[in-house]
Amino acid sequence: MPPQIPVTRTFLPPLAEYTELLEGIWERGYVTNNGPLLVELEKDLVPYHGMKHVLFAGNGTITLQLALRALDITGEVITTPFSYVATTTTLLWERCAPVFVDIESDGFNIDAGKIEAAITPRTQAILATHVYGLPCDVEKIQNIAKKHGLKVIYDAAHAFGTEYKGRPLLSYGDISSCSFHATKIFHTVEGGSLACNDDGLYRALFLMRSFGHIKDDHFLAGINAKNSEFHAAMGKLVLRYFPTILERRKQQWTRYAQGLKGMRIAQVPAETRYNHAYFPLVLGSESQLMAVMAGLAEIDVLPRRYFYPSLSALPYLTFNGTCPIAEDLAPRVMCLPLYHDLTESDIDRIIARVQSVV
Ligand SMILES: *Cc1c(COP(=O)(O)O)cnc(C)c1O
Repeated sequence: MPPQIPVTRTFLPPLAEYTELLEGIWERGYVTNNGPLLVELEKDLVPYHGMKHVLFAGNGTITLQLALRALDITGEVITTPFSYVATTTTLLWERCAPVFVDIESDGFNIDAGKIEAAITPRTQAILATHVYGLPCDVEKIQNIAKKHGLKVIYDAAHAFGTEYKGRPLLSYGDISSCSFHATKIFHTVEGGSLACNDDGLYRALFLMRSFGHIKDDHFLAGINAKNSEFHAAMGKLVLRYFPTILERRKQQWTRYAQGLKGMRIAQVPAETRYNHAYFPLVLGSESQLMAVMAGLAEIDVLPRRYFYPSLSALPYLTFNGTCPIAEDLAPRVMCLPLYHDLTESDIDRIIARVQSVV
């Protein structure tokens, strides 16, 4: 029996390379609080973000919280119903009011053409996700934000490595937030980043990450969103292998796309160098999705329902609108396994099983 094939597996660099970095940590005895590996990692990450400032933080959820705080967002925020639940729960946690705008009928991202109709005098920001690492309509969103004086935060948790119009996708918006969780295409075990161009905003985020003080000088009320030398060390090593990971993913993704021709998969927009972070497959109905999941489970393949349910239908919301497109999509979309050491023959087995059930 071949081993189980999960939706993703964490890329781990050769252990000897990690031990080598650990030796340095042991020599210095310095394990957290802006250590030298963390500072190096932040520098290494700048070209991947395409923004002047990059902060490495504890995870990709607290980064969204800091973004909302640093921009002083307390009112209505226009957001997407199709994302990981953290995009919405962060808004609720920060006591902002999510206002869902439906997604594009032929894609997975917020429909920028529907944003203006949802703006009210209380709207302060747009929080959109580059779902599966595919770019939102960043230009249209920027124009709307400018016209109405709104801030733009991207939940770019999937977007590391994608380039749009020759720039990292992470370079768009007032603040981009990324997740470096172990399930993401680039990871630091746990971790996340914040990127921005504005110096004042950077200073606020920097202070907020670490209780709002530098030594004995206290500037604002912050929190603990720091990350450690151990996580930074992992990041430095995964970054070393990142070009290989991207190349491998592209081959795997293309193999899936060819094998599943005729079915609804992701379309990569023009002028996009995609990171191939996920392979979403949209089925005709929820019952067909369940049948495919069951068929794959029989051969020990475990795809995931990314993302279900539509966030506009979360049981603890007070939002009383609907998002018909997202609510129609969420029950019938899943992501197929995709990770560095998934083999061609595994992909072919998965394709064959999907085809036979459908
Ligand atoms: C993973 C993810 C997050 C949360 O990141 P963590 O690092 O796990 O806290 C937020 N938003 C989206 C879209 C994600 O996929």
